[in-house]
Amino acid sequence: MTSSSVSTTLPADIRVFDRGWLSSTNIVCLGEEPALIDTSYVKHEVETVELIRKTLNGAALARIAHTHLHSDHCGGTHALQRLWPNAQTWVPEASFEAARVWDEEALTYRATGQRCRRFRADHAMAVGQTLRLGERDWQIHAAPGHDPLAVFLFDPRDRVLIAGDALWEQGVGIIFPVIDGAGGSDAFDAFEQTLDAIAALQPEWVIPGHGTPIARGTGALQRALAQARSRIEHFKQHPESHALYAAKVFVKYELMDAGHRTWSELGAWMDRTPDLHRLHQQAAPATAWREWAHGVVAGLISKGALRDDGTQVSNV
Ligand SMILES: [Zn+2]
Repeated sequence: MTSSSVSTTLPADIRVFDRGWLSSTNIVCLGEEPALIDTSYVKHEVETVELIRKTLNGAALARIAHTHLHSDHCGGTHALQRLWPNAQTWVPEASFEAARVWDEEALTYRATGQRCRRFRADHAMAVGQTLRLGERDWQIHAAPGHDPLAVFLFDPRDRVLIAGDALWEQGVGIIFPVIDGAGGSDAFDAFEQTLDAIAALQPEWVIPGHGTPIARGTGALQRALAQARSRIEHFKQHPESHALYAAKVFVKYELMDAGHRTWSELGAWMDRTPDLHRLHQQAAPATAWREWAHGVVAGLISKGALRDDGTQVSNV
């Protein structure tokens, strides 16, 4: 490849597995010490272990790293550590203590009503440092916005960037600091600043937390950045639309995990999920909780994202 050519394939030592929306993308970095970044949701842990085992072709997994500790990015870590007990495991420094003592409140699993199996956190990933994963030294950058504690990784040699949920090809992730009020309206700005930081590094490839790699050479990266910026701008002007979007994502996610729920089971899950009550207050405080909660589910059904089978609601 000449220096002026446009790269059309990722370097061969980086393998990317798009696992859909319930589970994060898995990124394997091959080399002397094979590494995995992000481990998907606990529901898929058996498939995740099998996928990584096949990809490593007899080698032992040496390192596991996480862009952030949302349940869909670290749910396979427990099972991977069981098969490879010597795999050293990194989490973002800001989450290290919560992961070490397994504080389910700080780790968001309680507020979101999601599940994750406890795993061992060995090392903290500090912003400004580099981390050897596979045969590359990855820079660790702060990635606030979607999750204030998240990081993204950047390989300056081939300009590959592992974004976690800081950038997707379509749409944007929920802005969690807006939900819990911790970030106020600054949280939208933090997300935009993370997009600026990604753009400033001029990556050839961005590997998103969900979906397939986004290339600069095809123009897809510029489009992804532009649509993310306009979506965040819209949310900033209309925070109630972010709240409704987030509530729909939570409910859809629960049904992707469960497969189906009776209306009363789903109602009970919504009743006991604190973030949904916060979102209700942000989206439509004048509407009664039950009416609003029913409307969130009905909205997903009318869009075809869920199916109403009479007594139960099913994932589509
Ligand atoms: Zn996330």
